[in-house]
Amino acid sequence: MNLPELLYRMDDPAPESLPPTAESFLDSLPGPTVILQSGRDKSRTRALCTLLHGNEPSGLRAVHRWLAEGLTPETNLVFILASVEAAKITPMFRHRQRPGHRDQNRCFHPPFLDREGQIASAILQTLAVTRPEALIDIHNTSGTGPSFGVTIRDDAEHRALTSLFTERLILTGLRLGALMEYSEQKVPTVTIECGGAQDEAAHQRAWEGLCRFATEPQVLIPPPSDWDIELLRHPVRVEIIPEASIIYDLQRDTGKSITLNPDIEHHNFGVLHKGQPLGWVAESGLAYFRARNEAGHDVLDQILRIEDGRIFPAQDLRAFMITTNPLIAKSDCLFYAIADHGEPL
Ligand SMILES: [Zn+2]
Repeated sequence: MNLPELLYRMDDPAPESLPPTAESFLDSLPGPTVILQSGRDKSRTRALCTLLHGNEPSGLRAVHRWLAEGLTPETNLVFILASVEAAKITPMFRHRQRPGHRDQNRCFHPPFLDREGQIASAILQTLAVTRPEALIDIHNTSGTGPSFGVTIRDDAEHRALTSLFTERLILTGLRLGALMEYSEQKVPTVTIECGGAQDEAAHQRAWEGLCRFATEPQVLIPPPSDWDIELLRHPVRVEIIPEASIIYDLQRDTGKSITLNPDIEHHNFGVLHKGQPLGWVAESGLAYFRARNEAGHDVLDQILRIEDGRIFPAQDLRAFMITTNPLIAKSDCLFYAIADHGEPL
Protein backbone atom coordinates (compact mmCIF):
# COMPACT_ATOMS: atom_id res chain seq x y z
CA MET A 1 0.00 0.00 0.00
CA ASN A 2 1.39 3.36 -1.08
CA LEU A 3 1.10 5.97 1.65
CA PRO A 4 2.52 9.50 1.73
CA GLU A 5 6.17 9.43 2.72
CA LEU A 6 5.76 12.44 4.95
CA LEU A 7 4.17 10.16 7.54
CA TYR A 8 6.39 7.74 9.46
CA ARG A 9 4.86 4.32 8.91
CA MET A 10 4.56 1.25 11.12
CA ASP A 11 2.95 -2.00 9.98
CA ASP A 12 1.56 -4.36 12.63
CA PRO A 13 4.08 -3.39 15.31
CA ALA A 14 4.83 -6.30 17.65
CA PRO A 15 3.78 -5.49 21.23
CA GLU A 16 7.21 -6.41 22.58
CA SER A 17 8.85 -4.00 20.12
CA LEU A 18 7.01 -1.00 21.59
CA PRO A 19 8.53 1.29 24.20
CA PRO A 20 6.82 0.59 27.54
CA THR A 21 5.06 3.92 28.16
CA ALA A 22 3.07 6.33 26.03
CA GLU A 23 5.79 8.94 26.70
CA SER A 24 8.66 6.70 25.58
CA PHE A 25 6.57 5.59 22.60
CA LEU A 26 6.00 9.21 21.60
CA ASP A 27 9.69 9.91 22.08
CA SER A 28 10.54 7.09 19.66
CA LEU A 29 8.44 8.56 16.83
CA PRO A 30 10.33 10.79 14.41
CA GLY A 31 7.28 12.79 13.30
CA PRO A 32 3.65 12.41 12.25
CA THR A 33 2.96 8.70 12.14
CA VAL A 34 0.58 6.21 10.57
CA ILE A 35 0.24 2.74 12.09
CA LEU A 36 -1.49 -0.01 10.14
CA GLN A 37 -2.87 -2.99 12.01
CA SER A 38 -4.47 -6.01 10.34
CA GLY A 39 -7.87 -7.08 11.57
CA ARG A 40 -9.82 -10.33 11.56
CA ASP A 41 -11.90 -9.00 8.68
CA LYS A 42 -9.32 -7.69 6.23
CA SER A 43 -11.93 -6.41 3.80
CA ARG A 44 -12.83 -3.50 6.08
CA THR A 45 -10.84 -0.72 7.71
CA ARG A 46 -11.52 1.80 10.44
CA ALA A 47 -9.41 4.85 11.13
CA LEU A 48 -8.58 6.64 14.36
CA CYS A 49 -6.66 9.88 14.41
CA THR A 50 -5.37 11.54 17.55
CA LEU A 51 -2.81 14.05 18.78
CA LEU A 52 -3.88 16.62 16.21
CA HIS A 53 -3.25 18.79 19.25
CA GLY A 54 0.05 18.05 20.94
CA ASN A 55 -1.25 18.77 24.44
CA GLU A 56 -4.10 16.24 24.25
CA PRO A 57 -2.66 12.87 25.19
CA SER A 58 -5.69 10.63 25.96
CA GLY A 59 -5.92 9.23 22.43
CA LEU A 60 -2.21 8.51 22.17
CA ARG A 61 -2.28 6.73 25.54
CA ALA A 62 -5.16 4.58 24.36
CA VAL A 63 -3.45 3.74 21.05
CA HIS A 64 -0.21 2.82 22.81
CA ARG A 65 -2.05 0.63 25.30
CA TRP A 66 -4.05 -1.05 22.54
CA LEU A 67 -0.92 -1.89 20.55
CA ALA A 68 1.01 -2.95 23.66
CA GLU A 69 -1.74 -5.38 24.69
CA GLY A 70 -1.41 -7.13 21.34
CA LEU A 71 -5.16 -7.39 20.73
CA THR A 72 -6.50 -8.20 17.27
CA PRO A 73 -9.07 -5.74 15.97
CA GLU A 74 -12.28 -6.74 14.21
CA THR A 75 -11.34 -4.85 11.04
CA ASN A 76 -8.07 -3.39 9.84
CA LEU A 77 -7.17 -0.29 11.79
CA VAL A 78 -5.34 2.83 10.69
CA PHE A 79 -3.99 4.92 13.55
CA ILE A 80 -2.81 8.42 12.73
CA LEU A 81 -0.70 10.33 15.25
CA ALA A 82 -0.57 13.85 13.92
CA SER A 83 1.21 16.54 15.94
CA VAL A 84 4.01 14.35 17.24
CA GLU A 85 6.48 17.21 16.85
CA ALA A 86 4.42 19.61 18.97
CA ALA A 87 3.74 16.94 21.61
CA LYS A 88 7.44 16.10 21.92
CA ILE A 89 8.56 19.64 22.76
CA THR A 90 9.67 19.44 26.40
CA PRO A 91 7.91 19.30 28.72
CA MET A 92 5.93 16.74 26.74
CA PHE A 93 2.23 17.26 25.95
CA ARG A 94 2.29 21.01 26.66
CA HIS A 95 2.05 22.49 23.16
CA ARG A 96 -1.18 22.41 21.15
CA GLN A 97 0.88 23.22 18.07
CA ARG A 98 4.47 24.14 17.38
CA PRO A 99 5.12 27.76 18.44
CA GLY A 100 4.54 30.13 15.54
CA HIS A 101 2.76 27.48 13.49
CA ARG A 102 -0.87 26.87 12.59
CA ASP A 103 -3.32 24.77 14.57
CA GLN A 104 -3.10 21.38 12.87
CA ASN A 105 -6.85 20.86 13.11
CA ARG A 106 -7.56 23.97 11.05
CA CYS A 107 -5.48 22.82 8.10
CA PHE A 108 -7.66 20.20 6.39
CA HIS A 109 -8.48 22.30 3.38
CA PRO A 110 -6.27 23.61 0.59
CA PRO A 111 -3.93 25.27 0.05
CA PHE A 112 -1.57 22.84 1.80
CA LEU A 113 1.48 25.09 1.65
CA ASP A 114 3.15 25.06 5.07
CA ARG A 115 4.27 22.02 7.03
CA GLU A 116 0.93 21.73 8.86
CA GLY A 117 -0.86 21.92 5.52
CA GLN A 118 1.37 19.20 4.13
CA ILE A 119 0.74 16.98 7.15
CA ALA A 120 -3.01 17.53 6.74
CA SER A 121 -2.77 16.69 3.06
CA ALA A 122 -0.79 13.51 3.85
CA ILE A 123 -3.46 12.47 6.38
CA LEU A 124 -6.21 13.04 3.81
CA GLN A 125 -4.27 11.02 1.24
CA THR A 126 -3.82 8.22 3.77
CA LEU A 127 -7.58 8.14 4.34
CA ALA A 128 -8.25 8.18 0.59
CA VAL A 129 -5.95 5.18 0.11
CA THR A 130 -7.05 3.14 3.14
CA ARG A 131 -10.78 3.92 2.66
CA PRO A 132 -12.01 3.51 6.23
CA GLU A 133 -15.69 2.82 6.89
CA ALA A 134 -15.52 5.25 9.83
CA LEU A 135 -13.13 7.80 11.28
CA ILE A 136 -12.72 8.87 14.89
CA ASP A 137 -10.60 11.83 15.96
CA ILE A 138 -9.77 11.85 19.68
CA HIS A 139 -9.08 15.07 21.56
CA ASN A 140 -9.00 16.43 25.10
CA THR A 141 -10.70 19.60 26.22
CA SER A 142 -8.52 22.43 27.46
CA GLY A 143 -10.05 22.55 30.91
CA THR A 144 -11.82 19.87 32.87
CA GLY A 145 -15.34 18.83 32.04
CA PRO A 146 -17.49 16.09 30.59
CA SER A 147 -16.88 14.30 27.31
CA PHE A 148 -18.76 14.97 24.10
CA GLY A 149 -18.64 14.38 20.37
CA VAL A 150 -18.71 16.94 17.57
CA THR A 151 -20.05 16.29 14.11
CA ILE A 152 -21.07 18.10 10.95
CA ARG A 153 -23.74 15.45 10.25
CA ASP A 154 -26.53 14.27 12.51
CA ASP A 155 -27.63 10.85 11.34
CA ALA A 156 -27.79 7.30 12.71
CA GLU A 157 -24.22 6.49 11.70
CA HIS A 158 -22.69 9.54 13.36
CA ARG A 159 -24.75 8.93 16.49
CA ALA A 160 -23.67 5.31 16.56
CA LEU A 161 -20.01 6.26 16.34
CA THR A 162 -20.42 8.88 19.05
CA SER A 163 -22.18 6.42 21.34
CA LEU A 164 -19.03 4.27 21.44
CA PHE A 165 -17.40 7.06 23.43
CA THR A 166 -19.91 9.47 24.93
CA GLU A 167 -23.57 10.48 25.26
CA ARG A 168 -23.45 14.12 24.10
CA LEU A 169 -23.13 15.27 20.52
CA ILE A 170 -22.66 18.77 19.18
CA LEU A 171 -23.86 19.38 15.63
CA THR A 172 -22.08 22.22 13.88
CA GLY A 173 -22.41 23.72 10.44
CA LEU A 174 -19.16 25.65 10.76
CA ARG A 175 -16.32 24.69 8.46
CA LEU A 176 -12.97 25.48 10.01
CA GLY A 177 -10.73 23.02 8.18
CA ALA A 178 -11.10 20.39 10.92
CA LEU A 179 -10.58 16.70 10.24
CA MET A 180 -14.20 15.90 11.16
CA GLU A 181 -15.23 17.60 7.93
CA TYR A 182 -14.12 14.32 6.34
CA SER A 183 -17.79 13.38 6.79
CA GLU A 184 -18.22 15.24 3.51
CA GLN A 185 -16.31 12.41 1.83
CA LYS A 186 -19.14 10.05 2.84
CA VAL A 187 -17.05 8.57 5.65
CA PRO A 188 -18.85 8.95 8.98
CA THR A 189 -16.48 10.98 11.13
CA VAL A 190 -16.78 12.31 14.65
CA THR A 191 -14.48 14.27 16.87
CA ILE A 192 -14.44 12.93 20.40
CA GLU A 193 -13.51 15.26 23.23
CA CYS A 194 -12.73 12.85 26.06
CA GLY A 195 -12.45 15.39 28.86
CA GLY A 196 -9.47 17.21 30.36
CA ALA A 197 -5.94 16.39 29.27
CA GLN A 198 -4.84 15.76 32.87
CA ASP A 199 -7.94 13.79 33.70
CA GLU A 200 -7.57 10.06 34.36
CA ALA A 201 -11.25 9.58 33.52
CA ALA A 202 -10.59 11.07 30.08
CA HIS A 203 -7.79 8.56 29.43
CA GLN A 204 -10.12 5.76 30.52
CA ARG A 205 -12.90 7.01 28.26
CA ALA A 206 -10.57 7.11 25.27
CA TRP A 207 -9.38 3.59 26.05
CA GLU A 208 -12.83 2.09 26.48
CA GLY A 209 -14.13 3.86 23.37
CA LEU A 210 -11.16 2.69 21.33
CA CYS A 211 -11.76 -0.90 22.48
CA ARG A 212 -15.39 -0.72 21.32
CA PHE A 213 -14.40 0.97 18.05
CA ALA A 214 -11.78 -1.72 17.41
CA THR A 215 -13.70 -4.81 18.49
CA GLU A 216 -17.41 -4.28 17.70
CA PRO A 217 -18.47 -6.10 14.52
CA GLN A 218 -20.52 -3.03 13.51
CA VAL A 219 -19.87 0.52 14.65
CA LEU A 220 -22.34 2.36 12.43
CA ILE A 221 -25.56 0.74 13.66
CA PRO A 222 -26.63 2.14 17.01
CA PRO A 223 -28.16 -0.28 19.50
CA PRO A 224 -31.58 0.99 20.63
CA SER A 225 -30.33 1.89 24.09
CA ASP A 226 -27.99 4.45 22.60
CA TRP A 227 -30.67 6.57 21.03
CA ASP A 228 -30.77 8.87 24.04
CA ILE A 229 -27.75 10.81 22.87
CA GLU A 230 -28.18 14.44 23.81
CA LEU A 231 -27.88 16.57 20.70
CA LEU A 232 -26.75 20.21 20.92
CA ARG A 233 -27.53 21.85 17.61
CA HIS A 234 -25.65 24.63 15.88
CA PRO A 235 -23.91 26.39 18.76
CA VAL A 236 -22.56 29.89 18.40
CA ARG A 237 -18.86 30.52 18.93
CA VAL A 238 -18.33 33.35 21.36
CA GLU A 239 -15.01 35.01 20.59
CA ILE A 240 -13.13 38.11 21.59
CA ILE A 241 -11.71 40.57 19.09
CA PRO A 242 -7.94 40.43 18.48
CA GLU A 243 -7.40 43.82 20.14
CA ALA A 244 -9.03 42.74 23.43
CA SER A 245 -7.01 41.46 26.38
CA ILE A 246 -8.46 38.93 28.79
CA ILE A 247 -7.72 37.51 32.22
CA TYR A 248 -9.52 34.96 34.37
CA ASP A 249 -9.81 36.22 37.91
CA LEU A 250 -12.30 36.61 40.73
CA GLN A 251 -11.37 40.31 41.00
CA ARG A 252 -11.69 42.83 38.25
CA ASP A 253 -8.38 43.55 36.52
CA THR A 254 -8.69 47.14 35.30
CA GLY A 255 -5.63 46.66 33.07
CA LYS A 256 -7.51 44.17 30.89
CA SER A 257 -10.38 44.61 28.45
CA ILE A 258 -12.16 41.59 29.88
CA THR A 259 -11.99 39.86 33.25
CA LEU A 260 -13.89 36.58 33.39
CA ASN A 261 -14.71 34.61 36.50
CA PRO A 262 -12.74 31.34 36.35
CA ASP A 263 -15.74 29.55 37.91
CA ILE A 264 -17.46 29.85 34.53
CA GLU A 265 -15.80 26.54 33.70
CA HIS A 266 -18.00 24.76 36.25
CA HIS A 267 -20.99 25.49 34.03
CA ASN A 268 -19.69 23.41 31.13
CA PHE A 269 -22.78 21.84 29.54
CA GLY A 270 -24.91 23.31 32.28
CA VAL A 271 -27.07 26.41 32.20
CA LEU A 272 -25.67 29.91 32.48
CA HIS A 273 -28.59 31.77 34.01
CA LYS A 274 -29.57 35.21 32.86
CA GLY A 275 -28.87 36.83 36.22
CA GLN A 276 -25.48 35.31 36.75
CA PRO A 277 -22.51 37.72 36.54
CA LEU A 278 -19.72 36.34 34.37
CA GLY A 279 -17.11 39.06 34.87
CA TRP A 280 -16.22 42.63 33.96
CA VAL A 281 -15.41 44.64 30.85
CA ALA A 282 -13.62 47.92 30.18
CA GLU A 283 -15.32 50.86 28.48
CA SER A 284 -15.82 49.30 25.03
CA GLY A 285 -18.22 46.78 26.59
CA LEU A 286 -19.82 44.36 24.16
CA ALA A 287 -17.54 45.57 21.36
CA TYR A 288 -14.78 43.32 22.75
CA PHE A 289 -16.83 40.26 21.90
CA ARG A 290 -17.99 38.64 18.72
CA ALA A 291 -20.69 36.01 18.28
CA ARG A 292 -21.95 35.01 14.90
CA ASN A 293 -24.27 32.15 14.19
CA GLU A 294 -23.55 29.67 11.44
CA ALA A 295 -25.38 31.84 8.92
CA GLY A 296 -22.92 34.61 9.76
CA HIS A 297 -25.44 36.81 11.57
CA ASP A 298 -24.33 38.74 14.60
CA VAL A 299 -26.25 37.30 17.58
CA LEU A 300 -24.13 38.80 20.34
CA ASP A 301 -27.08 40.67 21.85
CA GLN A 302 -28.80 37.31 22.40
CA ILE A 303 -25.77 35.97 24.25
CA LEU A 304 -24.26 38.68 26.42
CA ARG A 305 -25.37 41.93 27.94
CA ILE A 306 -23.40 44.51 29.91
CA GLU A 307 -24.71 46.30 32.95
CA ASP A 308 -22.50 48.77 34.85
CA GLY A 309 -19.38 47.18 33.43
CA ARG A 310 -20.46 43.67 34.43
CA ILE A 311 -21.06 40.86 31.96
CA PHE A 312 -24.24 38.76 32.12
CA PRO A 313 -25.82 36.16 29.84
CA ALA A 314 -28.52 37.88 27.76
CA GLN A 315 -30.79 34.88 28.32
CA ASP A 316 -30.50 31.42 29.87
CA LEU A 317 -27.78 29.67 27.85
CA ARG A 318 -26.35 26.22 27.55
CA ALA A 319 -22.61 26.84 27.30
CA PHE A 320 -19.89 24.35 26.61
CA MET A 321 -16.26 24.04 25.58
CA ILE A 322 -15.72 26.83 28.05
CA THR A 323 -12.07 27.69 28.41
CA THR A 324 -10.32 29.44 31.28
CA ASN A 325 -7.05 29.55 29.40
CA PRO A 326 -6.45 33.12 28.15
CA LEU A 327 -4.32 31.84 25.25
CA ILE A 328 -7.14 29.65 23.97
CA ALA A 329 -9.67 32.39 24.65
CA LYS A 330 -7.63 34.69 22.41
CA SER A 331 -6.68 32.22 19.69
CA ASP A 332 -9.84 30.09 19.55
CA CYS A 333 -12.95 31.10 21.46
CA LEU A 334 -14.36 31.68 24.95
CA PHE A 335 -17.14 29.13 24.72
CA TYR A 336 -19.92 27.79 22.55
CA ALA A 337 -23.54 28.51 23.36
CA ILE A 338 -27.07 27.61 22.43
CA ALA A 339 -30.24 28.98 23.95
CA ASP A 340 -31.43 26.92 26.90
CA HIS A 341 -34.67 26.15 25.05
CA GLY A 342 -32.57 24.30 22.50
CA GLU A 343 -33.36 26.34 19.42
CA PRO A 344 -30.39 27.69 17.48
CA LEU A 345 -29.65 31.39 18.01
ZN1 LIG B 1 -8.01 19.21 20.35
